Amino acid sequence: MTELAYRARNAEDVWDYLPEFASEQLPRYTSYPPANRFSAETDGETARAARARLRTGAAISLYLHIPFCQKLCWYCGCHTSVPTIADPVDTYVEALKSEIALVARDLPAGAHVTRIHFGGGSPDILLPRQVDDLFATLRLHFDVSALADIAVELDPRGISEDLVQAFANAGLTRASLGVQVLDADVQRRINRMQPRADIETAIRMLRRAGVEGINIDMMYGLPGQTMGHVAETALFASTQDVDRIAVFGYAHVPWMKKHQKAFSAVDLPAGEARFRQAEVAARTLTSAGYIPIGFDHFAAPGDSLSTAERQGKLHRNFQGYTDDASDALIGLGASAISSLPDLFYQNTSDTADYRAVLARETSPVVRGLTPSREEISTGRLIERVLCDFEVNLDAGTKAAAYPKLAPLIRAGIVGLKGGKLTVSARGKPYVRNVAACFDPGFAPKPGTHSLAV
Ligand code: SF4
Repeated sequence: MTELAYRARNAEDVWDYLPEFASEQLPRYTSYPPANRFSAETDGETARAARARLRTGAAISLYLHIPFCQKLCWYCGCHTSVPTIADPVDTYVEALKSEIALVARDLPAGAHVTRIHFGGGSPDILLPRQVDDLFATLRLHFDVSALADIAVELDPRGISEDLVQAFANAGLTRASLGVQVLDADVQRRINRMQPRADIETAIRMLRRAGVEGINIDMMYGLPGQTMGHVAETALFASTQDVDRIAVFGYAHVPWMKKHQKAFSAVDLPAGEARFRQAEVAARTLTSAGYIPIGFDHFAAPGDSLSTAERQGKLHRNFQGYTDDASDALIGLGASAISSLPDLFYQNTSDTADYRAVLARETSPVVRGLTPSREEISTGRLIERVLCDFEVNLDAGTKAAAYPKLAPLIRAGIVGLKGGKLTVSARGKPYVRNVAACFDPGFAPKPGTHSLAV
């Protein structure tokens, strides 16, 4: 597809509010089956054997989870906490180094790391010497001769020139900055005071250090947030000359994240008000020339994510939309999830347990799932729906999904021509609803997942 035709296709996107679909609670399908279906049958030995089964010369992506922040934001849905004397960052880094050594041992000949992503929490809680130490350990234990991308998630309030330089010295290529919302009143409500100047300073620091890829994360659906607040943040993001902007809807799951009880449900934009916030973010960013990627990302036209999308090479993993085509994603650190060709597994989320098992040089893996052949092919299908908005269905899959698809067809969300399913321009905001039609394990149940839009 030419660039012009591609832009014209995206300009057709329609934002019709369809309450019965927008208010459904659905998995985000960053894996299939989703992580809430993992079980304790998978342990360290299962994980070790799966790593050893990787093909000779496998390309590996590493994800390192740093589960600490200086201060908690009340909307946070991540595995994180504020470090304490009993739960310090230093000993966590030592445990992480032990896990790096443990995992690298199992990999087959020729396995090499192509990407490293630091997430959290806020990796900016690390001291420059800890960043140096972690990279030295990674380089010692893994083949990094083909390492092309190093990315880090950063809180603009927490970074310093020294920290940025430590990551830059290691070869940092991309940084994601959490911006979320600019309005000071909403910032107060979410316990994240972040002056605009801090964000601009962070961007300048990264550029000075030679970091070429910069992402901004922003949110809608926060307490007290209005369409005007979302438009203001989107406009700001679109004028910072960054490559990618991710727009996440606040997921209110206080039964899982107790600190979210700080919000009163009546203060949360709901129904059509929330939907229109997602719309205004998308419209502001596309008007500024960003290309929509899947259902929550926007990329500059020359960015590798928009190239991958245009070429049908977009993927979806635990970090969301990506152009990463590695054989395996290996997660390191407390709560980190790994995705191998024939196994998903997750480490303990408890940082004390994580330190304790690694002090004994044993595995922190506590749960996971071995997908069946059917689940692997369902996962591929769901990934293509979420990435390409169209997919070819075989007769059996079409027949099995049809009862769930029928209401979406009637609503004009999807069209079915022979075996080809296409998500319409009107249906794009509801693409997770479409994906759920192919998930035999999904049954709508309040209080389990985040809202569709
Ligand atoms: S900085 Fe990020 S990870 Fe830390 S509490 Fe805030 S939202 Fe959560």
